[in-house]
Amino acid sequence: MTVNLLDFDLEGLTAFCEQLGEKRFRAVQLFRWIHQKGASRFDEMSDLAKSLREKLPSVCAITDLPVLSRQDSADGTIKWLFDVGGGDAVETVFIPEDDRGTLCISSQAGCAVGCRFCSTGHQGFSRNLTTGEILAQLWHAEHFLREHLKSTERVITNVVMMGMGEPLQNYSALVPALRVMLDDHAYGLSRRRLTVSTSGVVPMMDRLAADVPVALAVSLHAPNDALRDSLVPLNRKYPIAELLDACLRYLPAAPRDFITFEYCMLDGVNDQPEHAAQLLALIKGHGGRGVPCKINLIPFNPFPDSGLKCSPRPVVQAFGQILIAAGIVTTVRKTRGDDIDAACGQLAGDVMDRTQVAKRRAAVQPIRFLKSAKEKQE
Ligand code: SAH
Ligand code: SF4
Repeated sequence: MTVNLLDFDLEGLTAFCEQLGEKRFRAVQLFRWIHQKGASRFDEMSDLAKSLREKLPSVCAITDLPVLSRQDSADGTIKWLFDVGGGDAVETVFIPEDDRGTLCISSQAGCAVGCRFCSTGHQGFSRNLTTGEILAQLWHAEHFLREHLKSTERVITNVVMMGMGEPLQNYSALVPALRVMLDDHAYGLSRRRLTVSTSGVVPMMDRLAADVPVALAVSLHAPNDALRDSLVPLNRKYPIAELLDACLRYLPAAPRDFITFEYCMLDGVNDQPEHAAQLLALIKGHGGRGVPCKINLIPFNPFPDSGLKCSPRPVVQAFGQILIAAGIVTTVRKTRGDDIDAACGQLAGDVMDRTQVAKRRAAVQPIRFLKSAKEKQE
C-alpha cells in the first residue's frame, strides 16, 4: 500500500525520509511543499533532487479526500462533504469573519458518545479518521480557498476540532494532526488559535495537556449530573466534578488562562434561571476557588427527529445575563451557514441521506438515546 504523506508530522516524515536514505532537510522541504504550497505532485517540487522526485511516486502519495459536495452559504460559510470510503462521509466547515477564517474539522465518521441533541451522535459511530484524513480537510480547504480567493496569504487562521466526532476518542490520530497544524513549516497556527472541543474524556484531557496543550473547549451543557447524564452519556463515566478537576489540571498548560465551556440551549431542558444559578455555583465554587472560564451559549440547531427545540431568544438572553451579572464572560454563538445546514450539531444530516449510515447502524444497534427523547431537551 502506498504511504500517505498527510499521515505524518515532521518527525514522522523525517523518519520516513531516513528510511529512503534521505537527510532531515529533505523532509523539511517536502513538508513545506505539501502543507505550505499545497503541492500534490512530486514533479512540482523543483528544489528536491531529481533522483528523489523520481523515487517518491513509487513509494508514497499526497492523498486528498474525494469531495462529494461543496455548498456555499449566502453568508460566506462553505461546507464540504468528503467521502472517507465504506459509505461514510464527513463534513468540514469554513467560517469567514472580518478578522479571521475558521475551519471546523471532523475527527471521526459518526461519534460513539451519542449526545441527545447532536445529529452526529444520533448517527452512531462508524470509525476513527486517520491523521491523513483529519489533515486532508485542512490541506484541501486552505489550498482551495487560496485559489478561490486569489490569495497568496494564509486564509485559515483558526482551526476548531468541532466537526463530527469526539477528538479525544481518536487521540493517536489527533496528536500528529495537531502538531502539523502548529508547525511553522506547515500551517504555523498558534496554540491559542487551535481549539480542541471535548465532551469530557478526562484521561485524554490530561494527556493533551502534556502532549500538545492547545486551547480547550469543554461541552458542559448541564449544571448537574442527573441532567448531564441524560444529555451527554459520557457523563456517567466522567461526572462533572471529575471533569472540572481535569479542567483545573489542564489550565497551567493551556495557551489561555481560561477554559471555554459550551452550553447548548435546549428549550425547557437546561435553560431556566435555576440552571443558570446552579451553573454559577458550580464554576465559581468548584475546588474552593472555581474554574476560570468563559461560557459560550450555543442556540440549539434543530435536526429531524431530535425531539428538541431551541430556547427562545429572550430565554437565551436572560440566561446569559444571569451569568454576566455574576462576572462570567458569556457569549452567544452566532449561527452561521444556516441555509446549508452547516451549523453546530447539524453536521451529518446529509451524510445520513447519502451514505445510509443511520440505516446500517439501526440494523445492528438500537439508537438508545431516542428512548429518553421524550424528556424535554436542549
Ligand atoms: N465531540 C466534541 C466536538 C464536536 S461537537 C464535543 O462534543 O465537544 C462541537 C460542539 O457542537 C459541541 O459543543 C456540541 O455539544 C455542539 N453541538 C452538538 N449538537 C448541537 C446542536 N444540535 N446544536 C448546537 N450545538 C450542538
Ligand atoms: Fe459526539 Fe460531540 Fe456530538 Fe456529543 S456533541 S455526539 S461528543 S460529536
